[in-house]
Amino acid sequence: MTEALALRFLGVGNARASELGSAAAVLEADGEPLLLIDCGPRTLDDYRTCYGDAIPKAVFITHLHLDHIGGIEALFYRAYFADQGLVRLHVPAALVPALHAKLAGSSFVLSEGNASFWDAFQLLPVGEFMWLRGLLLSVFPVRHSGYHQAFGLCLPGAFAYTGDTRPIPEVLGHFARSGEPVFHDCGVEGSPAHAGVEDIAREYSEEQKSRLVLYHYESEAAGRELERRGFRVAKAGERFLLKPPLPVSRQPAADPETASLTRVV
Ligand SMILES: [Zn+2]
Repeated sequence: MTEALALRFLGVGNARASELGSAAAVLEADGEPLLLIDCGPRTLDDYRTCYGDAIPKAVFITHLHLDHIGGIEALFYRAYFADQGLVRLHVPAALVPALHAKLAGSSFVLSEGNASFWDAFQLLPVGEFMWLRGLLLSVFPVRHSGYHQAFGLCLPGAFAYTGDTRPIPEVLGHFARSGEPVFHDCGVEGSPAHAGVEDIAREYSEEQKSRLVLYHYESEAAGRELERRGFRVAKAGERFLLKPPLPVSRQPAADPETASLTRVV
């Protein structure tokens, strides 16, 4: 792929900061949406405002908290009735049973019946990597609400996106070590599930901190405070131009087959 990549934030708020939008971003190629990352309660409206289309073609889910999947039910209805083809739903495999139970367990997802939730989606369970139109993205576990309950994405050389997480310097040291910007959960105050600015300052190296772009914060005032502390902060609607990703043969190995492939190349 030779298109120019960018990451646009549709929302940057935490679960309580609905005025900042549901935390979600879109990977764009030549200005066209390629992948929506998370779909919270406000995401589809912001997506339509941005792209003039209410139905993303591909979605990645980082985890199952409602401020990140609260818009998927609306997406089902829009996609099912629009009948324009299935929405590709990339879901970490560990989350599939719980996602099915939350959203797809009803035999009457339509009151008239005769449809299941999955009739609107192509489910793509994801392990340690996913392919997206010729791009190879790494998928890595983060620290949020339990073991293997939340995941981030990295397109080596282009960007990493943590989703909700505590600091994970060792994980990013493995998956995001190619100079890419790291879009990272951070508020002014930390919690057992989220990074706070003191945690970020303490746990990341200076080199890692220089690449962080913080989102998922408490309020506009909190965003200004994070900037005052010297960090770059994403705003709702902001678009970040990305460098081209590393060629697949030069990416950190995501799995044993890729490792052998990399050695051969
Ligand atoms: Zn969460």
